[in-house]
Amino acid sequence: MLEIRNLHARIADEGTEIIRGLNLTVKAGEVAAIMGPNGSGKSTLSYILAGREDYEVTEGDILFNGESILEMDPAERAASGIFLAFQYPMEIPGVATMEFLKVAMNAQRKARGEEPLKIPDLLKRVKEASGKLNIDMAMLKRPLNVGFSGGEKKRAEILQMQLLEPKLCVLDETDSGLDIDALKIVSDGVNALRSPDRAVVVITHYQRLLEHIVPDSVHVLYKGRIIKSGDKSLAMNLEENGYAGVIGEAA
Ligand code: ADP
Ligand code: MG
Repeated sequence: MLEIRNLHARIADEGTEIIRGLNLTVKAGEVAAIMGPNGSGKSTLSYILAGREDYEVTEGDILFNGESILEMDPAERAASGIFLAFQYPMEIPGVATMEFLKVAMNAQRKARGEEPLKIPDLLKRVKEASGKLNIDMAMLKRPLNVGFSGGEKKRAEILQMQLLEPKLCVLDETDSGLDIDALKIVSDGVNALRSPDRAVVVITHYQRLLEHIVPDSVHVLYKGRIIKSGDKSLAMNLEENGYAGVIGEAA
């Protein structure tokens, strides 16, 4: 589903190379975890997947279902089924969360050639998904993310992800800022999305999240490259021994 080949990317207006020859393959149905110390390029990779324009790909390719997405703008990528849950969700003053969800869901349906949802249908879906994520309907009347606590922002990201039913979900440090109860709720929400025709990329620098969202593969990102891949035991090993050993092996 996702194939990243020898990707090199830099900050567009500055030139510093952040991603330096990254290779990664994620199959449909797979949950892949990307781990790595702070500053290794995890968020940069997620932004590049989503199509943020601050970064410039200088070499390599990103294939989604066999087709290069490099020429696609962020809206086209979203329409094709790529979803990014942000490490730092943006506040959007003036746009009620419910209105945002309606517009996003209907845009996604339009891209799939489906009719817009009727209001009662829309409300039913939003209510059901919100309930499971422990999101109060009153919160959905407020502007998106404005004044939401860290945990509420993360739950709002997962709510969007569930309602938009993407093919490729990228979660950037969704565990940061969550207490144990919220972590459980958010993990259950992600696990509910596991499906044979969907891939999930979970970015985290703690193993903690991966006790709840058990990955099929684990990849260590360091200085813009994947330096080691393995199964979930790799994550446990990192938790016990830190990144130093893996970094030493790769050096
Ligand atoms: P991670 O998410 O793994 O902690 P990031 O992808 O956020 O790492 O950052 C990787 C490196 O790239 C860091 O050294 C960071 O300072 C730098 N970086 C990322 N984006 C920018 C930017 N827009 N301007 C300057 N430096 C950046
Ligand atoms: Mg980050």
